[in-house]
Amino acid sequence: MSSLASYVRRLRSASQPGGVVLLYHRVADLDRDPQCLAVSPARFASHLATIVRAGVPMSLQALLSHSRSGTLPAGAVAVTFDDGYADNLTNAAPLLVDAGVPATMFLSTGAIVNESEFWWDELERAMTAGTIDNHTYDDLCQALRPMRAEERETVLAGIAARGGITRSPRESHRPLREDEVATLAAMPGITIGAHTHSHPSLAFLPVDVQRAEIAESRRELERLTSRPVDSVAYPFGGTQDVSSDTIAAARSVGMTIACTTTGGRVNRQTDHLAVPRAVIRDWTGEEFAQRFTEWTGVAAG
Ligand SMILES: [Zn+2]
Repeated sequence: MSSLASYVRRLRSASQPGGVVLLYHRVADLDRDPQCLAVSPARFASHLATIVRAGVPMSLQALLSHSRSGTLPAGAVAVTFDDGYADNLTNAAPLLVDAGVPATMFLSTGAIVNESEFWWDELERAMTAGTIDNHTYDDLCQALRPMRAEERETVLAGIAARGGITRSPRESHRPLREDEVATLAAMPGITIGAHTHSHPSLAFLPVDVQRAEIAESRRELERLTSRPVDSVAYPFGGTQDVSSDTIAAARSVGMTIACTTTGGRVNRQTDHLAVPRAVIRDWTGEEFAQRFTEWTGVAAG
């Protein structure tokens, strides 16, 4: 039965060629990583080695245009990063450039221009400091997702004040600084995309606020990079975070590419405003290679 299932899977992947878009967040060694966002630099290097050896790395833009024209090669893969951590510049970008692998980096601009930590890291900091316990941390991570920026800021300021926690970013958790965004944008193969301003779950917000979140992020990034920004990654990016209104909001502010975090491969039928991505965790080189083979149908072992 299992060999039949694997035969059917192989048949299906052979008849539905597609590309895969990978989603990373951080390249760093962390003591604590409750959101499982970081891949160690050594492991990221081994992922890249697999991508170069077995795959056909290309920019997200190229992958989508090849898929639309039916010219996507087997093993087509695009790398993306979400959020805008400083380690995207210090750790990830040099490895990407060395490997010759292009990447699109989607940056959430509020924490960058305000020089604060991302809101989920402020909660992690409060948990580490003992101001909130693990359960409260989990509850707050959920509760803050659908909030408007001002509402979330009131909660975060209250927690920090209660715990006597400074809100200037820790070096280990800081976002890119404004000048670093420009540096990153100028690196070969790097494209900058929007990731909203305050990183909310968009679908819970009124459509005008959804539009404003995407538009403000783009405006700030165009100011910082002096380049046009026409792609966005929806924060969290799951089915509950992205509604038809969200996709319409991305279209109405002029985005031509928008990414989710729903798994799946990119093919001719893919809506370019709902591009599926595979979330990558801190996997060993072997684990990554195995999944790469499952996703692309290309041997990577
Ligand atoms: Zn994000």
